[in-house]
Amino acid sequence: MALVNPEFAIELAKHGNDTALECFNCGTCAAICPLISEHFPRRMIRYIQLGAKDRILENAQDLWRCLHCGLCTQTCPRGADPGEVILGLKRFVVADWRRS
Ligand code: SF4
Ligand code: SF4
Repeated sequence: MALVNPEFAIELAKHGNDTALECFNCGTCAAICPLISEHFPRRMIRYIQLGAKDRILENAQDLWRCLHCGLCTQTCPRGADPGEVILGLKRFVVADWRRS
């Protein structure tokens, strides 16, 4: 069962991004992402909103598939900057690996 941590979005902001809570889950980013992979990056942003840190760590390998092409950020209607959110998640995961 996933553990929920409402403070996670705040914690993640330390790694460079505080826009994930702007997302309203429209799915535009997942539709345009060239990875065409199970609602990526929307799914990761939803995990942040839910505070499901363990889900992000379990699926961390998906983050390294991102091409940083910027298409998701360009088309996001909420300015949630999903491309930068993914980059911030990578920093978070690396910091977590270093701690463990
Ligand atoms: S396009 Fe923006 S608002 Fe829509 S799901 Fe992606 S991050 Fe959220
Ligand atoms: S920056 Fe990454 S998540 Fe965004 S559209 Fe490109 S490959 Fe997909």
